Amino acid sequence: MTAAPPYLRYEEIRRSALADLDAYEKLTRDQAARLRLGRLRDHVAYALSASPYYSERWAAHRGTVIDHLDDIRKLPFTTKRDLREAYPFGLVAVDRREIVRYGESTGTTGSPTSSVITYEDWIRGNVAVERSVGHVFGPGDLVFVAIPYELAFASYDLDRALEQAGAGVVAVGTLSRVCPFERMVEMMWRVGPTGLVCTPSRALRLYDMLADSGRDPAEVGLRTFLYVGETCSPAKLAKIADLWGVRLSNAYGSTETNSLGLVCAAGSLHLTEDRHLFEVLDPETTEPVPDGTAGELVLTTLVSRAMPLLRYRTGDYVTVSGEPCVCGSPNRVLAHHGRVGEQLVHGGRRINKLALEEVVLSTEGTGLYWAAGITDDGLVVKVETENGDPGGLCAAVTRRVEDAFGLRPAVSPIDRAQVRQAMDRMLKPGSLSLDDLAAVS
Ligand SMILES: [Zn+2]
Repeated sequence: MTAAPPYLRYEEIRRSALADLDAYEKLTRDQAARLRLGRLRDHVAYALSASPYYSERWAAHRGTVIDHLDDIRKLPFTTKRDLREAYPFGLVAVDRREIVRYGESTGTTGSPTSSVITYEDWIRGNVAVERSVGHVFGPGDLVFVAIPYELAFASYDLDRALEQAGAGVVAVGTLSRVCPFERMVEMMWRVGPTGLVCTPSRALRLYDMLADSGRDPAEVGLRTFLYVGETCSPAKLAKIADLWGVRLSNAYGSTETNSLGLVCAAGSLHLTEDRHLFEVLDPETTEPVPDGTAGELVLTTLVSRAMPLLRYRTGDYVTVSGEPCVCGSPNRVLAHHGRVGEQLVHGGRRINKLALEEVVLSTEGTGLYWAAGITDDGLVVKVETENGDPGGLCAAVTRRVEDAFGLRPAVSPIDRAQVRQAMDRMLKPGSLSLDDLAAVS
């Protein structure tokens, strides 16, 4: 006899997930922590027995006593390298028949990591995304989802959640021969989406192309921009909100884990602490940092049956705030500051690229685009003038960067045509480096 297909249980799983979410959101922080502790204990034991990679490599840790959430620190870390070594099924703790989705990502080394999920975990995670996007999208919305679909989970997760929230979806996908910038701009103009999901840089570029073709981007009727896939400064987000006249929303996740941060009704990005245990650690000493201090986000899954991950170092540089949110959620609020190591280093000084972006783009008169990097001459910043006086703007940016970082940059105007060419080469348009610009000059 063959087993019944899992989708027959869809309504049952969804109802149960919604009820669990309702109950969870009413918990106090202490009650939520106790729930996490119970889940952690079970999940660590599960991972160390059911996951081939952990049961083999971490055999010495079987039987680790977990009486407190901090006891997670008795275990070593899981790194991207472990994921590569376990590729494709080494970390998979379930029978192959239970896998409903398989995805991959590639890092800078080019060797892939895999990610799998069971039907129940997929639907449960999706219900949380549905609740979050339901705060900003609903019936009558038509949403352009312009992020990669190939080998990914996030796009499908969002599609499903948007449909459940009552919105319509246009699966634009990544920049490809099917839908390059030009076609997307034409579609936005003629179809008139009310929502857009993409990287902040892509939203700026779309605005630029529409305006440049003599059309008023405000006439598209876009109301909400949900940004994903690229961390950016408040100044860049403010620019997008102002230019497009949209409200902003956000979601955070990774291919290995699906969603990790979801926006509440009050607009804060909450960690998914019902499904993950999060630590924020100093990336060098791996000691926990005080509440509200930036560090690397390290996560342990609590309910992932298909692919448990213990103390996985995300490489994301974040701040987690213990301040309560007005929405009443027991989950803490996350701010993202880019990737660990994503810094410009010169003469012993380290400059966080997002902090630099904030200073550059918040300078009065800055246009849409900027780029920075370190050359033999030191810190080089290229910046676009909104209108008028490039010399005055460059002088102002020089002054402000020097005040903020104690380092005098060489600032010059950026060439918009070069920026466009550089972005056309990116599958996921993000902040530009000098190397990106040099590659098209
Ligand atoms: Zn909230």
